[in-house]
Amino acid sequence: MEITGVNQYHLRYGMDDSFRPAWKPGHEQTEHEVLLFELETDAGISGVATASGFAGRIDYLELAELFLVGEDPRDIDRVRDKLDTLNLWGPRPWHFEVACWDIVGKDAGKPVYELLGGSGDPVPAYASTGERRGVDERLAYVEERVDEGFEAVKLRCHGDDPGPDLEVTRRIREAYPDLTLMMDANMGWSVPMVEVEPWSFGDALGVARELEAIGGIGWLEEPLDRRNYDGLARLREKTDVPIAGGEFNDGVHHFREFVKHGSLDVLQPDAVLATGVKGALTVAGMADTHGLEFAPHTWNDGLGFVANLHVLAATGARWCEYPIEPPGWTPETRDFLLEAPVTAENGAVAPPDGPGLGVELDWDLIHDLDES
Ligand SMILES: [Mg+2]
Repeated sequence: MEITGVNQYHLRYGMDDSFRPAWKPGHEQTEHEVLLFELETDAGISGVATASGFAGRIDYLELAELFLVGEDPRDIDRVRDKLDTLNLWGPRPWHFEVACWDIVGKDAGKPVYELLGGSGDPVPAYASTGERRGVDERLAYVEERVDEGFEAVKLRCHGDDPGPDLEVTRRIREAYPDLTLMMDANMGWSVPMVEVEPWSFGDALGVARELEAIGGIGWLEEPLDRRNYDGLARLREKTDVPIAGGEFNDGVHHFREFVKHGSLDVLQPDAVLATGVKGALTVAGMADTHGLEFAPHTWNDGLGFVANLHVLAATGARWCEYPIEPPGWTPETRDFLLEAPVTAENGAVAPPDGPGLGVELDWDLIHDLDES
């Protein structure tokens, strides 16, 4: 079998309600932007996957201009910071490997998780928030998720003053003593055109200590830069709160560095963004060998979510990240390019059991939206 062609679709889906991502302060998101790729083969089978969607661009020249026009070329440190983020938002290749798995599964007539030796049993999920919200709003959200059967919720804490987010966390803990809470600082990487002062080591340690006092914390995610292996290791030594990260690291070797330095308790590769499916399995093996937790990142579009869900189902991972932040980020909006969203039932998500990635795309909508 040979790959005979690649199609690209640039999709911009108008959301029913806006969304204010914690990792992009001051930005109100009204569109879900996705780059869909389709690999064609001479066997008549096509495989699909999406690239890191919320940058939305893959024209490198345009991206370079976006970052560099207007910058002072003599300010080398600032230019290097811009280039670092340009590198992050450039075209990573891992989604093409995911599309190949879709082809392999379709050719075999089996879902990817089955090819990888996994089970179709539902994976326990945590509700992953995306916004920073006040106490009352967040308590109402948690009540809804607990009623739906979720036993864990991940909150966001991103910015100069973590005080309000920690207060939200304390209030949820008081109301729900048994609920597992995760906290995502999103300090591991940057979003184009958004400047956020990263936490110092002291800032991160301060938040970790507060979370220790709150108790029942599943993990603190990305409190420092994604390549600050030593800093993360020092932090991990000084706190009992598990430290997590890896969603935007690039390739398995970054996870080797995490393990070598003792940086993390929880390894969180993303098959689409960080490692591919096979690389994620390698990281799962590292986690197993070194007594660490494996909890892949899934916050993506519907295809990215299911790619990671197959990895989760193949590795017996403890928690599936289930992104849900209504009214903006609903399963329907998240999975708009699928015929039907992948939904959680009683706080767990089953991997799709069709061949390959196991989901049908809404091709009518895709052709309607395509701007390529
Ligand atoms: Mg995260």
